Amino acid sequence: MPASSGSTLGVMVRDKQTNAFFGAAAAGTLVIQVCGDCGYRQFPQPFTPGTSHCHACASSDLSWQPVSGQGSLVTWTAMQNRPEPDGTPAPVIIVAVIELDEGPWVHTQLRDVAIQDLTPGLPLRVGFEQPDGGEPLPVFLPAQRRISVE
Ligand SMILES: [Zn+2]
Repeated sequence: MPASSGSTLGVMVRDKQTNAFFGAAAAGTLVIQVCGDCGYRQFPQPFTPGTSHCHACASSDLSWQPVSGQGSLVTWTAMQNRPEPDGTPAPVIIVAVIELDEGPWVHTQLRDVAIQDLTPGLPLRVGFEQPDGGEPLPVFLPAQRRISVE
């Protein structure tokens, strides 16, 4: 995928199904889907906010609910694309699964953390990143910044 803005996220454009998700994201709020039939809470994954049925009971009676944006690290991996034609190394991307405090798991990318500092259960908080020409997408950052001695 061509890098348009330096963002490592794909570009998504909102439609009728994803309007609520991206509208909340633009206001800095993460939302999840709640099933009106069984109460199951889910995050639309991965980055497919238009998922139109409950993952537990297949009901289509879903509504959006804001969440705290706090969670903890479940698992992660580092990925790196090929270097640019001029030899510039591609950025290392940390792809992770986060468990939101409200329960659902989110497939996302991490920011502002070194891979050697990652540990299961690490507290994280949501942030939003907006690739050129796309909608804001959630990424996760350390919930408490380490105190650095400079
Ligand atoms: Zn359900």
